[in-house]
Amino acid sequence: MILVVDDEGEIQRLFKQIFRKRIRNGELGFQFAQNGVEALQMLRESDAIDMILTDIQMPKMDGLTFLSHLDEFETPIKAVVISAFGDMKNIRTAMNRGAFDFLTKPIDFEDLEITINKTLSFVNELRAQKQQLQSTLERLHSLVFYDQLTGLNNRYGLLQEIAKSIEAKHTKETSFALLKLDVERYSIIKSGFGHALSDRLLIEIARRLEHCDIPAKVVARLENNEFAILLQQVESPSVLESYIQKLHQLFNLPMKLGEISVSSKTHIGAVTNDLEDHQPESFLRAADTAIEYARHSRNCTIFFNESMQRKAAHRLNIEVDLQEAIETKQILVYYQPIVSLTTGKIQGFEALARWPIPNQKWISPLEFIPLAEETGLIIPLGKLILSEACAQMGRWKMQFPDICPSIISVNLSSLQLINETLLEDIDRSLSLAGLTGESLNLEITESVLMENTEAINVLSQLRQRHIGISVDDFGTGYSSLSYLHSLPITSLKIDRAFIKDIHENTNSLEITSMIINLSNQLKLKVVAEGIDKERHTDILRDLDCDYGQGFLFSRPVDAATATALISAQEFCLNR
Ligand code: C2E
Ligand code: MG
Ligand code: MG
Repeated sequence: MILVVDDEGEIQRLFKQIFRKRIRNGELGFQFAQNGVEALQMLRESDAIDMILTDIQMPKMDGLTFLSHLDEFETPIKAVVISAFGDMKNIRTAMNRGAFDFLTKPIDFEDLEITINKTLSFVNELRAQKQQLQSTLERLHSLVFYDQLTGLNNRYGLLQEIAKSIEAKHTKETSFALLKLDVERYSIIKSGFGHALSDRLLIEIARRLEHCDIPAKVVARLENNEFAILLQQVESPSVLESYIQKLHQLFNLPMKLGEISVSSKTHIGAVTNDLEDHQPESFLRAADTAIEYARHSRNCTIFFNESMQRKAAHRLNIEVDLQEAIETKQILVYYQPIVSLTTGKIQGFEALARWPIPNQKWISPLEFIPLAEETGLIIPLGKLILSEACAQMGRWKMQFPDICPSIISVNLSSLQLINETLLEDIDRSLSLAGLTGESLNLEITESVLMENTEAINVLSQLRQRHIGISVDDFGTGYSSLSYLHSLPITSLKIDRAFIKDIHENTNSLEITSMIINLSNQLKLKVVAEGIDKERHTDILRDLDCDYGQGFLFSRPVDAATATALISAQEFCLNR
């Protein structure tokens, strides 16, 4: 569309006459304005105008002033000035104000047509370029702020929305809450049924979350199986609770994915807007922390509180330090004697990991072992403990050929048990230390054995090497008798929880007695852990318990002190 701006009445008729063919077949279209003011009004009302042909001398607003207003329009438009005042000064001014070309009156219509064609094709090219740029920008925006699988906002999109909510909270009294959700069985479904189906699961959940009957919300997909919902105008904690209930129900409903139907569960980490730190990222981090708690809790929903964040930061520091401590072999092995309750002699030692930190309280294995298990660091850590414990046992064998305790007992975590190189690592540690399998015992907790039924094969291979296998912390798990029967184990270690009050709690006494009977029947050795009173040994000996371990005999000690214990062989056993 070409806008002709001229106060000369004749011009309209002329244009229509000359270009009638092209107007009829739709190639060209003209609109007419009498002056700059009218032309600007028409431009504001329509974005179909590609080109302007303007006179200079006009009432109300002249052509040169009109040109200087064209900047305000975003769509590419080019103006050609037609004037009887074709002097150099006017041409320069028109060009400086963005005119594309300049024609003089009387109009040479042949020249005008060439100019129109040239200008229109230039404008078309500009429009095409602009269009392309626009779609590139839109694509970029979609990639940056939206999840490509579900079409929901992604992390960055969500952060923008959180920022808006924070802003709104500053300006008016409105409250919001951020919920982070996961899809509990996602990885099982993914490994069992493949990417295509697990993607469909995510899409289905995305749709359900979008259509869930919760007002004023933004739904986002974060990484993998994680979603987030930003709720606006949350009137009260009980309203929020009711929304959370709805979300849990939504996950419980079975989802049909092609041939199969699956149902899942979700954990929810919730953050309300009373967080101290008002950065959008802080809300997301708080939700991360809360969902982490929810994953390890019986409650499927956990509300964030500040103490969680401090703990999370502390954990992260420990994780980094632990990795370094393993690499630089700062982790030491301490040894706690396992004593024969009949002879009072040290029958073996349990190797226990210690992490000495200069000028600080040592971190307990109860803290760093679970962390190592979660992060996979237990594999290098376990190897370190295993090789050092075996090496120490080898040294003791050399040093005390006659009175050396016969067994070194090493704790083994679940990840180690299913690690491919376990047998290789054990063989290497034993052979470097000059030991055979009889000298080594591995302690595996009841729950680990129950959860890794496929590990029986590994246990059998360990037994072929005559390596002993103890069920550690026995009594706290749920081993069934038939299961115990089927395992190639050699001893049970009764958990400290039952020993510590065996002298005053008939329940503990009964449990301990039953475990000892059970192990006698299964022809397993039995070790009582956590003996720290004389009375404990008396009772245990009466119950026919073979071995004991506890502070009464010795705390876990470093290698030099353990060496001194072997040579002394004196224990305060009342026999
Ligand atoms: P655990 O294998 O059941 O080890 C026995 C724990 O009871 C040790 O705690 C020991 O110091 C403690 N203990 C022994 N006698 C007494 C007593 O009379 N009274 C009291 N109150 N405690 C006693 P520790 O060394 O803190 O180890 C805790 C747990 O950490 C171990 O329990 C074991 O599960 C794990 N752990 C320690 N070292 C390693 C390791 O090298 N590898 C693996 N996988 N786990 C380890
Ligand atoms: Mg143990
Ligand atoms: Mg134990």
